[in-house]
Amino acid sequence: MITAQAPKVAVVGGGLAGLAAGCALSDAGFRVTLHERRGFLGGRASSYQHPSTGEVVDNCQHVLLGCCTNLLGFYQRIGVVDKIRWYDQLTFLEPGGRASQIEASWLPAPLHSAPSFLRASCLEFKDKLAIARGMMALAPGAPGESGESFLQWLQRHGQTERAIERFWKTILVSALNEDLERISVPYAMQVLRESFLKSATAGHMGVPGVPLTELYDAAGDYIRHRTGAVKFRSSVESFRAEPSHVKLGTTDGEAAFDYVVLALPFGMLTRILPETSAADPLRQSLARFETSPITGIHLWFDRQITDLDHAVLLDRTIQWMFHKSRLLRRGDASYVELVVSSSKSLVERSRSDIVELAMRELQEFVPEARRANLIKSTVIKEVHATYSPRPGIDLHRPHPETVWPRVFLAGDWTATGWPATMEGAVRSGYQAAEVVARVAGLSDASYVLPDLPPKGLMRIFY
Ligand SMILES: Cc1cc2nc3c(=O)[nH]c(=O)nc-3n(C[C@H](O)[C@H](O)[C@H](O)COP(=O)(O)OP(=O)(O)OC[C@H]3O[C@@H](n4cnc5c(N)ncnc54)[C@H](O)[C@@H]3O)c2cc1C
Repeated sequence: MITAQAPKVAVVGGGLAGLAAGCALSDAGFRVTLHERRGFLGGRASSYQHPSTGEVVDNCQHVLLGCCTNLLGFYQRIGVVDKIRWYDQLTFLEPGGRASQIEASWLPAPLHSAPSFLRASCLEFKDKLAIARGMMALAPGAPGESGESFLQWLQRHGQTERAIERFWKTILVSALNEDLERISVPYAMQVLRESFLKSATAGHMGVPGVPLTELYDAAGDYIRHRTGAVKFRSSVESFRAEPSHVKLGTTDGEAAFDYVVLALPFGMLTRILPETSAADPLRQSLARFETSPITGIHLWFDRQITDLDHAVLLDRTIQWMFHKSRLLRRGDASYVELVVSSSKSLVERSRSDIVELAMRELQEFVPEARRANLIKSTVIKEVHATYSPRPGIDLHRPHPETVWPRVFLAGDWTATGWPATMEGAVRSGYQAAEVVARVAGLSDASYVLPDLPPKGLMRIFY
């Protein structure tokens, strides 16, 4: 029961980090006020009515994996876990349309995908052998950060050009939103071990079956139902930490709280830090972060162009196709989103250029798209989509505690052990909530859920 005497905590930012922190703190007995600059929740994982098409679109397709234990726990907590559709098969399409399916078999981890992998026509035997060698080197676990990029690691481990292009790049550029030459080895290892090698369940792919904000609105309701408040279009512009409270300067005026969780992107956090020397070490850490873009190309056709729900697209600029009209169960004609991660080459290109390129490439994978008429389209460029997992950056990811005893940090870029993902954001929110609850003396509970257990032969390596 939350009483009027319960400590007051402000959570700044209504992305997944802020929502997870807000929900956990509501459960711990705090009076939570969540400030969100925009008019909707979800942050970088949100949907909105797109002005020129009139359609509700996700800012970009978001997928999760079975290994995202905290995100799934969060969905369970806010009551939306049944809105996720699960897939245990991935289709890799080559230009021309030839398909290879990767799926789990009865073999023990890490061999569960091996039979389908051996059948895959998009790779030759020598590529498969090289990949198997690479996976064996990865399975035991990560050496620490050495400054080496994952591309250098692959070259050192005898990977063929095709294995790099069609396998390693395909998986890691979309998982980590960065080019292989800019990805640190421990990040790549974490993704491959947690999602690919650990167990068949860990690698199942989940796709929201509703627009993203519909999913995350439930977290706002969760906070409100526990006497909290969600303030939209409330931008926090400054904070002042005092010994007994924290003063937030917001677009609605000034307000005092017992504790504050700043769940902001690092660029925004930099802007609101006080101009004092106490803030210098954090400011210097934040200055080390760089971002990488993602581009989503949304195409509406007058008919169904494929019966696939999604596919990985090889050897071209476009990397994934999500058949949104099927995923969202919306009508018979195809609405497709094509995703390009680490889309540096598209940032400066015009939207019409990008649609033309995407149409040309899509027709190579899906011949029916040549016969269909494109009714409308839009391109959404997220220029600062996620932080770049470069070698060395982990040293600069801060923990929730700050030099101000009542001010805490959350966000996908903080020290979670996970890359910039919805799972990483939720973990960061739970980590911050744990520390706030402990400092306030309200709870010693642990909110961060454990990772999935390793299965089969992978148990040897954990
Ligand atoms: C295009 C794209 C595709 C992605 N695809 C995937 C995917 O498939 N799978 C996956 O797991 N992850 C994906 N991600 C990453 C994932 O979206 C993020 O890691 C996660 O959503 C980050 O959550 P966050 O709460 O840390 O930050 P944010 O979502 O950025 O939340 C910060 C919030 O703070 C608000 N805010 C900013 N300034 C202020 C202020 N001054 N006052 C008040 N509020 C403020 C913002 O409006 C925002 O709502 C993708 C990201 C992008 C951009």
